[in-house]
Amino acid sequence: MFKKIITLIIIQFSFSSTLIAKELNVFACEPEWKSLVEEIGGEKVKAISATHAKQDPHHIRARPSLIAKIRRADLIFCSGAGLEVGWLPLLLQKAKNTVQPGKLGYFMASEYTPVIDIPETIDRSHGDVHPEGNPHIHLDPNNILLVAKELNRRLALINPSNKSYYQEQYNNFMNRWKKSISIWSKEIASIKGKKIIIHHKSFDYLLNWIELDAIASLEVKPGIPPTASHLKDILQKINNNPADIIVISQYDPVDGALWLAEKTLIPVATLPYTIGGNEESKNLFALFDSSINLLQDELYGK
Ligand SMILES: [Zn+2]
Repeated sequence: MFKKIITLIIIQFSFSSTLIAKELNVFACEPEWKSLVEEIGGEKVKAISATHAKQDPHHIRARPSLIAKIRRADLIFCSGAGLEVGWLPLLLQKAKNTVQPGKLGYFMASEYTPVIDIPETIDRSHGDVHPEGNPHIHLDPNNILLVAKELNRRLALINPSNKSYYQEQYNNFMNRWKKSISIWSKEIASIKGKKIIIHHKSFDYLLNWIELDAIASLEVKPGIPPTASHLKDILQKINNNPADIIVISQYDPVDGALWLAEKTLIPVATLPYTIGGNEESKNLFALFDSSINLLQDELYGK
């Protein structure tokens, strides 16, 4: 009897440790990629996000806890296109993980989507934080389709024993996502063409997809905060060409937006930007639902 129990314990232990060993460790740079890898990887992945919705993903500190997390990662899943250039290379260098640029486990989402806002001339002395173009690609739902496809391919190659599981999860996600896109496309029809003032280029993909017209940016250049003279220029510009809404994210400074709103009575909408950016945005589906609802509410009243 005693022997039997011991054998059972050993079997159970080795069974559970095999399961643990099969779980992929994913280091996502932003919450949207943690959410996407959980949609497709399901119970076979253990994902963390290096940043949360109230943190500016352009600038975080390479904390020791993040170095420890990236050291364990089988998959590093980020936006790329320079968004994490201020901290990801430093984490990689300190962690000495075998997963490095060029490896299968190093996945930069923007390499698989069209990239917009590529500057015609690059002049870093003017402080443009996005010389490679706009890295905030997740807010075009069509980009999510492209990234999900590549993610599924990589998961199967990194962890072949769960290939069919990932494929099933992927098919399920793609069906639901495509259905959602067709519902959202109908919902956004009524707000197309509205004029928007942005803070940073965080929402350009969303605005492009909806076909909203971004007529001004509160930042002087991407990464350069608003100045009094720049705000006055915008004020003058919108006197002749009024804007319908000012859009900011959770992590943008609000002063410029509030100053302009006070002068013009244009409403300010704080959009969630990513998972956790407001109470509703618990996953990618809810993130788009909430963003569209907020824009509709502000543009047409509740
Ligand atoms: Zn940016």
